[in-house]
Amino acid sequence: MKTNNVEYTTFSGWVDPPADIVPALTDDLTCDVAVVGGGLGGMSTALRLAERGQDVVLLEAEFCGHGASSRNAGQVAGAPGGDLQLLNLFFRTKMPGMIRLAEHAAHHVEDLIRTHGIDCDYEQTGNVFAAVSRGQLGRVRRVAKILQRAGGHVELGTSEELGIPRGFLGGMREVVGGIMNPGRFTSGVRRALLSSSARTFEQTKVTDITRDRGQVRLTTPHGEVRANKAVLATNAYAGEWDITPPRLSVPIWVTEVETEPIDPARLAALGWTSRSGLVTQHNIMENYHLTPRNTIVFGVRRLERGTTYPLPQKKPDPRLVEELAQAFATRFPSLPDVAIDRAWGGWIAITSSWLPLAGQIDDDVFYSIACNGHGLAQAPYVGSLIADLIVDGERHEDLAALWMKKPAFPRPMMMGPLGLRTIWAVDRFNDLVNGSRRNARRGSAPAA
Ligand SMILES: Cc1cc2nc3c(=O)[nH]c(=O)nc-3n(C[C@H](O)[C@H](O)[C@H](O)COP(=O)(O)OP(=O)(O)OC[C@H]3O[C@@H](n4cnc5c(N)ncnc54)[C@H](O)[C@@H]3O)c2cc1C
Repeated sequence: MKTNNVEYTTFSGWVDPPADIVPALTDDLTCDVAVVGGGLGGMSTALRLAERGQDVVLLEAEFCGHGASSRNAGQVAGAPGGDLQLLNLFFRTKMPGMIRLAEHAAHHVEDLIRTHGIDCDYEQTGNVFAAVSRGQLGRVRRVAKILQRAGGHVELGTSEELGIPRGFLGGMREVVGGIMNPGRFTSGVRRALLSSSARTFEQTKVTDITRDRGQVRLTTPHGEVRANKAVLATNAYAGEWDITPPRLSVPIWVTEVETEPIDPARLAALGWTSRSGLVTQHNIMENYHLTPRNTIVFGVRRLERGTTYPLPQKKPDPRLVEELAQAFATRFPSLPDVAIDRAWGGWIAITSSWLPLAGQIDDDVFYSIACNGHGLAQAPYVGSLIADLIVDGERHEDLAALWMKKPAFPRPMMMGPLGLRTIWAVDRFNDLVNGSRRNARRGSAPAA
């Protein structure tokens, strides 16, 4: 695979930044609810509050959609993120609630697309947990049992039965959800927000959140907002303020790349008839997404821990892009000459338990911080449920499933640079063993 002409971007490969960036806040003002962060989580919260008649202000440091929401892999998941076997071991009773939340979140996104007429290439294909080894096939079967027992809608099959490329051995499809261009989806939600009664200020970074005379006071460089309630929806960036509970989540950098357009006849020969998004069953997954522009977007494989705030604007590491290209060559052996055109990445938040979470700090500050890399559907859904909670005073049962009563969080295990490197090394060791087995079956020499 060719990697000599890759365009490295600090934003996203899916869309360009908006041309109509909204002016910054330059005055002091008051409102019922202030929302901080204009990702899918924050925008959905503000939109819903505005629809329900609240006087709402949204403050976004760059432009709405600048964060992970426009940069992700575009796979609308119908199951929770994280290691489902471990989650089932430690949080068995929470599994039905988590799965219901994930499926409802995917349907909520479908509703948003319909309601606001968002053109984002959504295809209701589901996503496949795709196995690249017999070990991964075993894992997929165990995960399928866990999900089915907890009420999830999944189906097992061979690669032919699932309509996925023959470089994968088979897997399990989450029937709910699908694939989309997340940049266009996020732009569509931004347009809906800007047409609503919510007052939106872009280029307005909240530098401090304090309480003063019974209100929440949000400080920005050129103005101050006083609100009766505030919602923190900055995901990976939440650790910048003192008000955020310690160790709520850790910021992790994730990378995606996109191939050049591929000849449709060659794509057809892959057997990817279902067009389902794919995620491998490594400890740190690879994902593959076939787009309507006849490219393949793929990524992850290595996670990088953010260690200092403010989080830097980053470009992907060319060594990781090279490594992703090698993985692609193994999964798609018939496409060795295809080039990677562009690479980008983004910050996500990972919680110590790997469970998504939302909660409250005293009576007036709410947060919906981390969907552990599954927030394309979950962040907007949880955002709208928080808006309903603020208006109605009652928690929907899906919100109750991830509500954290006491903001006390253990240190996230394995999320330090050394832990992440170790998990990566285990995945590479397993790949090496599986590659040797494959070669031995074919009668050739083992891979170096
Ligand atoms: C490369 C990558 C691949 C992914 N793939 C998938 C996938 O396939 N499927 C899936 O479900 N999820 C995926 N995710 C995760 C998903 O994108 C996120 O969970 C989701 O977008 C989180 O939305 P959010 O609104 O919480 O955060 P974000 O979209 O990150 O929004 C946070 C916003 O807060 C703003 N902000 C930060 N600090 C401040 C401040 N001080 N003041 C004001 N504003 C501030 C930021 O500028 C940003 O716009 C992926 C993420 C990445 C990065």
